[in-house]
Amino acid sequence: MKNTADYVIIGGGISGVTIGYFLMKYGAKNVVILERDYLAAGATGRCGAGIRQQWGTELNCLMAKFSCEFFENAKDELEIGDGIDIEFHQGGYLLLISTERELAQTKKNIALQNSLGIASRLLGTSEINEIAPALSTEGILAGAFHERDGHLNPFHTTQAFARAFVRLGGIIHTNTNVSRVTTDRGRVTGVDTNRGHIATDCVINAAGGYSQQVAAMAGVSLPLYSVRHNILVTEAVERALNPVIMSFSLNFYCQQVPHGSFIMGRTCENQPRDLRVTADSAFPVAMAKTITRAMPPLKKLRMLRQWAGLYNMSPDKCPIYSAAPGLAGFYTAAGYSGHGFMLAPATGQSMAELILGHAPTLPWPRLGLSRFEKGDLILEPSVV
Ligand SMILES: Cc1cc2nc3c(=O)[nH]c(=O)nc-3n(C[C@H](O)[C@H](O)[C@H](O)COP(=O)(O)OP(=O)(O)OC[C@H]3O[C@@H](n4cnc5c(N)ncnc54)[C@H](O)[C@@H]3O)c2cc1C
Repeated sequence: MKNTADYVIIGGGISGVTIGYFLMKYGAKNVVILERDYLAAGATGRCGAGIRQQWGTELNCLMAKFSCEFFENAKDELEIGDGIDIEFHQGGYLLLISTERELAQTKKNIALQNSLGIASRLLGTSEINEIAPALSTEGILAGAFHERDGHLNPFHTTQAFARAFVRLGGIIHTNTNVSRVTTDRGRVTGVDTNRGHIATDCVINAAGGYSQQVAAMAGVSLPLYSVRHNILVTEAVERALNPVIMSFSLNFYCQQVPHGSFIMGRTCENQPRDLRVTADSAFPVAMAKTITRAMPPLKKLRMLRQWAGLYNMSPDKCPIYSAAPGLAGFYTAAGYSGHGFMLAPATGQSMAELILGHAPTLPWPRLGLSRFEKGDLILEPSVV
């Protein structure tokens, strides 16, 4: 392992590989990604990988639109060969609306989305039935739908970025744990790992649920916490569901992946706010009750397995893309609060611009740490 680098990225999840890719794309040299486990071992490999552009703030709409368009062109952009398929299934995202309050907010969101070039629309129950015949519309007032939303394979997508990063000259070290960030007089000087020290004056913290621990290694405090989220997969069956279905008030999301399995999750109460990713035995029971009410034909499906991963939560449930005040050369990309996969291309683009001092093409200056001190939080109404 080389003992110097110009940029060290801690974390080989989707954020780490996209930041690495965009840094290289914009001309950076000697960029190293350090991953203590394997690529996508964290939240990335445990997530639903749903992609939606249906947000309630201009900031999130623009970031999600940029990312979705990137995924649409990823084959060319990342020069993905025939051996890998990121499985971008654009069957749309159908957000179910079951309260008058949700309906009023959704109408505002759709007007905003349409003004930004996102062609979402409001559906009545008969149109919902056409798009998702397995869905019960009992208690559903309407739906919001955008046909270019969908889902990806998180492992293949991470690999595609990682390969493009390596093709451009980047280096990835897996099984490499960072135990300390060394500093001197307010500057980053390097990282200690289980495989030796790497001297660098730029460290990027892309450690997902562990980002507060990594920041603490550098003496930086981040207003983040991690909380467990559960998810399950069923046996594979014939295609029966095209869009991702999601409901904030009924508390679930569900999709059918290309090989036929259903993947679904919901937010459970009383989950540990620490780094535990053990399975919660109460989850499959609650999930089964929720999903069979929403989609009765799924009663016959058998669950294969469940797992859990960490949501890394920020105070306003929007990401932090920021330099660290008081420590030159230390940057953080974290706090996605459950939607970091869909924003990953925007993360890579924004972080590369921040670190390299380029003008912003996306509104990332709004996502700095200073917003919490100023009390200038982002008020996103459409967050899980
Ligand atoms: C159940 C579930 C469902 C989700 N569904 C969706 C969804 O549908 N759509 C969506 O957009 N988002 C979803 N998310 C959120 C999404 O998974 C995350 O926001 C995103 O994957 C974060 O990526 P990351 O690269 O920042 O973090 P991670 O993927 O967690 O990667 C961080 C990496 O850092 C490594 N690391 C940590 N500490 C160190 C260290 N000291 N040294 C070296 N390496 C270290 C870890 O091993 C890990 O691989 C979901 C999350 C969960 C848990």
